[in-house]
Amino acid sequence: MGGRDSDLVLLDENGIRCDGRKVDETRNISIKAGVLKNANGSAYIEFGDNKILAGVFGPRDVHPKHMSDTDTGIIRCRYHMSPFSVTERKNPAPSRREIEIGKVIKEALRPAVMLEKFPRTAVDVYVEVLQADGGTRCAALDAASVALADAGIPMRDMVSACAAGKVADTIILDVNNEEDQAGQADMPIGYMPNLGKVTLLQLDGVLTPAEFKKCLETGIEGCKQVYEIQKQALKDKFFANGEQ
Ligand code: UDP
Repeated sequence: MGGRDSDLVLLDENGIRCDGRKVDETRNISIKAGVLKNANGSAYIEFGDNKILAGVFGPRDVHPKHMSDTDTGIIRCRYHMSPFSVTERKNPAPSRREIEIGKVIKEALRPAVMLEKFPRTAVDVYVEVLQADGGTRCAALDAASVALADAGIPMRDMVSACAAGKVADTIILDVNNEEDQAGQADMPIGYMPNLGKVTLLQLDGVLTPAEFKKCLETGIEGCKQVYEIQKQALKDKFFANGEQ
């Protein structure tokens, strides 16, 4: 956070953002379910200029075995950025940031997945960021949720994710890379739309209590929009003949 590019106008006098969006507008989002034949479930998402693939295996045997739980299944997640996903070649070895985001996605998905039905097993979620442009953890979570549903894994709800944030003292929906770098706050949110429960909430930056409330409400509205696109992706795959 904090004005690295002084020439960048994050919000102009007409309330238009640096990429032409209004304050309450998400980037273009498209999701396709079932894009990989060898995974049990998969999804591809384009969230603005983010391009991300998610593949799911499971429930299946746990290796190493000592990680298994006799009372419930476990969920694991690997988030990985391809070397070509950012302008400066990313070292393909897992970074601290990637390990953290894998943990964040796993914890955001766990409340939605009925792991108690599958003791001693694991559900493995693999996320591959092909192109990054700010907000990859939210976009990855969106794709991972669709991939879990595509794999037929019983879920209480979908997890829909979108960030909200603050630029030029204004709360905005869906923070892009420039806004993330030069803005005042970034709040990634994961939300279960039918249960009305937040499963991911992070905040980079400083907000007043009133701004925090507005940011959370704005982000949840974004999550609800994402949810409709996730549902449509699953309908497009499973009702390929046009039946809805
Ligand atoms: N980024 C980058 N190089 C890196 C890591 C991140 O250029 O090694 C960019 C990328 O566009 C990413 C953005 O910085 O989306 C913001 O990263 P952050 O850690 O805030 O996570 P994200 O917003 O992607 O969930």
